[in-house]
Amino acid sequence: MTVPTLTLNDGKSIPQLGFGVFKVDPAETERIVLDALEAGYRHIDTAAIYGNEEGVGAAFAKSGVSRDELFITTKLWNDRRGAEDTRKALGESLEKLGLDHVDLYLIHWPTPASDKVIETWETFGEFREQGLATSIGVSNFDHRYLPAILETGIVPAVDQIELHPQFQQVESLDLLAQNDIKIEAWGPLGQGKVDYANTVIGEIAQSVEKSWAQVVIRWHLQKGHILFPKTNRKERMVENKNVFDFELSAEQMAAIDALEAGARVSADPAEVN
Ligand code: NAD
Repeated sequence: MTVPTLTLNDGKSIPQLGFGVFKVDPAETERIVLDALEAGYRHIDTAAIYGNEEGVGAAFAKSGVSRDELFITTKLWNDRRGAEDTRKALGESLEKLGLDHVDLYLIHWPTPASDKVIETWETFGEFREQGLATSIGVSNFDHRYLPAILETGIVPAVDQIELHPQFQQVESLDLLAQNDIKIEAWGPLGQGKVDYANTVIGEIAQSVEKSWAQVVIRWHLQKGHILFPKTNRKERMVENKNVFDFELSAEQMAAIDALEAGARVSADPAEVN
């Protein structure tokens, strides 16, 4: 079934459901991304730090899928800051991916210890003007870090943040909505570290005859989040995309909302430099 697209605040469209390759072994990335493309995914989320941009690029080259059907995101790692180094880093990513532009380029973490984040973001603004990145955004910039970015007058199209039922980023939601910044939910399934099957999600899954993962993915989609769950297994790629033939009721959505516990499964951006 066709994946819906959302319109970003820069007028560009993005497939709402994609495939992420965090922790996908570089040696296996080409095969796994080819599997994902075969399963119908067209939006792939990678990052320089994942070390697998070359494998992602090799899969595109082999797949025969046309460039304009693909939506490719990559991210600038934390040790690359300032105009010159940022330009160099994007060049390196494009070369590894075998592309002349990415669809979305993100600053991976806010790195509060760096004094060059604003200069870096202004350089992202140039990338958008030059067409090297069709859209630009940030990642892990929650309510503490987004205001400084907004002061530049360059509004990110997306903010990619840890978000799943027990960690819903409630403090950042208003700011993101006010600025029409779309949420990309990373760790959308809690990275497999949360036993969502044994919460109300398991009960809902039984009643709608879907898996717990499909129910969580459906919850994200109905919330308007963009997401790209990761799996190495083809049958789960198919399962995670088979979420467009059912709908959660308002009551089921509210029951999942109520799982919010302020509980991250991964790092606090304040501590990542
Ligand atoms: P995720 O929530 O997608 O969880 C992945 C894990 O969930 C898999 O390893 C697997 O164990 C399990 N899983 C997947 N499908 C399943 C299914 N159908 N049934 C049962 N278990 C299933 O976590 P993630 O990979 O961390 O996040 C998704 C993507 O987000 C990443 O691949 C990456 O692209 C991105 N990401 C970004 C950041 C960032 O800082 N910007 C951080 C982490 C991840």
